[in-house]
Amino acid sequence: MTRTRIAGRMAAALIAVTMATFPAAAASLKSCVEGLRRDAERAGIPDSITGRALANVAYDEKAVRFSRTQPEYKTEIWDYMAFLVDLERIQDGRAQMKRHRTTLAQVQKRIGVDQYIVAALWGVETDYGRKKGDFFIPHALANVICLSGRRADYFKGELIAALKIVADGDIRLKDLNGSWAGAFGQTQFMPSTYRRLAVDFDGDGHKDLVNSSADALASAANYLKKAGWNNRLPWGFEVRLPKGYDGPSGRRKRATLESWARRGITHINGARLKGDYSAGLLLPAGRNGPAFLVTSNFDALYSYNVAESYALAIGHLSDRLRGHGPLEARWPTDDPGLSRAQRLDLQRRLMVNGYNIGQPDGLIGPLTQDAIRKAEIRHGMEPTGRPGTKIYRALGGTK
Ligand code: CA
Repeated sequence: MTRTRIAGRMAAALIAVTMATFPAAAASLKSCVEGLRRDAERAGIPDSITGRALANVAYDEKAVRFSRTQPEYKTEIWDYMAFLVDLERIQDGRAQMKRHRTTLAQVQKRIGVDQYIVAALWGVETDYGRKKGDFFIPHALANVICLSGRRADYFKGELIAALKIVADGDIRLKDLNGSWAGAFGQTQFMPSTYRRLAVDFDGDGHKDLVNSSADALASAANYLKKAGWNNRLPWGFEVRLPKGYDGPSGRRKRATLESWARRGITHINGARLKGDYSAGLLLPAGRNGPAFLVTSNFDALYSYNVAESYALAIGHLSDRLRGHGPLEARWPTDDPGLSRAQRLDLQRRLMVNGYNIGQPDGLIGPLTQDAIRKAEIRHGMEPTGRPGTKIYRALGGTK
């Protein structure tokens, strides 16, 4: 449940609308929360938990906005990959894998999911357990259910599931911090997924994906296993297309490696494709960018966050953790993406040059995008608001 899209100008317009309707929203929130209390009671959640969970629910502009905002544009795949698979995350991941090597080896052996994949998922979801959620889930979900109006029944189910996890004694109420939509824990499970697939791997009697890395890693592995992960297959690998390739593509159009070989596709190093399984040809940036053959394991990764870019980031990060190098092919752009460290440096450089970006946090929100646009104009560039290498260099950054 990683947020993959950037909210743009449309978000700013929505804030204005939301604030204008605030008094009415506050009144309807109060009565709606009362209704949620009764729903929780009917679902068998003890009053002692619901009372504390839904006490003093305040209007949360951010949660409502995030639940309503349609992304203005999609993040470019090269920005997404540069941000998620940067050197820092690779080095951190190798250190974390050393630290947790016994657990990861046991997870791989007992659950049957490659430990590099499990570690990569952990790194992408919460930066190896470092990133805590911004929202207290009962309050955020109450806002989303009562004020957003989108998929209210679905989110009500997630709220009840979250409270049940607390009622089951798996985690404490104060640990229910996560995304506005309710995903939480070191591997960002939605509450209903948690109840279905979380496992107690460290054997203390609690499924605790917040405080126990072992439980979180094993639960993510369990999710992937149930989604069809097969440890005898790779997730996929980078390939080379023959010049002028115009054959089929798409992760779902799977065919045998032999048939791809007949179309002239090879491993990226030119070696002939070998293996008794089928794969689909993934072209995340079209025929002129990096190309991959991806297996059914890629679909298991995809199901975790329903995005091909997400599955690719996990797969590639897992390869980097294994010691493989960066992608061989270049993304089809003359303005590559920035790492997290470079994004932060870009924000600092914007500040030094007098642009308002709020707090430098490495996250490219509406203020930073606006500052980038202004800086681009001043440097005679097309205003995009995108944190790319060109504007970074124009401000003195080194790539
Ligand atoms: Ca446990």
